[in-house]
Amino acid sequence: MKKIIALNLKMNLGYKEILDYIKTIQNKVTDNYEVIFFPTSIYLDLFKKSGYLVGAQNVHFENKGAYTGEISPYQLKSLGVDYTLVGHSERRLHFKENDILINEKVKGALKNQLKVILCVGETDEERLSNKTYSVIENQLKNNLQNIDLEDVTIAYEPVWAIGSGKTPTKDEIDEVVSFIKKKVKQENAIDIRVLYGGSVNKENIKDIMSIESVDGVLVGSSSIDPNYLISMIDIID
Ligand code: PEP
Repeated sequence: MKKIIALNLKMNLGYKEILDYIKTIQNKVTDNYEVIFFPTSIYLDLFKKSGYLVGAQNVHFENKGAYTGEISPYQLKSLGVDYTLVGHSERRLHFKENDILINEKVKGALKNQLKVILCVGETDEERLSNKTYSVIENQLKNNLQNIDLEDVTIAYEPVWAIGSGKTPTKDEIDEVVSFIKKKVKQENAIDIRVLYGGSVNKENIKDIMSIESVDGVLVGSSSIDPNYLISMIDIID
């Protein structure tokens, strides 16, 4: 199986900038990895029509209804969207998404054959009080309740590493990723893929991708400038 490079563009870039972005990456995205773009939802179709795998940054749990401003998993699937992120720490923090809601979103997405990348990870405070493993164990237990995990990938994203320029050491990443795999195997008897996310950049991508337990990366800020992105992927291609 190819390692994954998931690119979370977050809430960045205007329409003209996205057209330029797609032009800049044309014929430059490697086949050696499963590269998935997670642009703002209004641009999903542009990436899809250009032949890329695409994912939504967020999804509602219902297929339709009176939920002004939301996008349903059914709607995403009908557009040809392949993946969705669920439980990104920015959603947990700024939009108060709790474990019950996240579990509902995972279920709604899978019901519509959207593949899910579920984000888990500890805050700085939790890390400093030695709660990393218990926090992650709880997130896995609560977010994945009553779910068939075949189309689920986990992204280990320490909240303190996101957008901060700080990353755990290779050994720390390996330890947490291996812990996640072990827990999921114990509870669900399935080998799950686990990505690392948090301040991945040109300087550290080679090291992080070389960790055997890591099945890929989830990249935020380093994916916003298409020239930087291509030169970063070139390093591991
Ligand atoms: C993210 O938003 O998932 C992320 C990993 O961001 P950054 O790469 O900017 O830390």
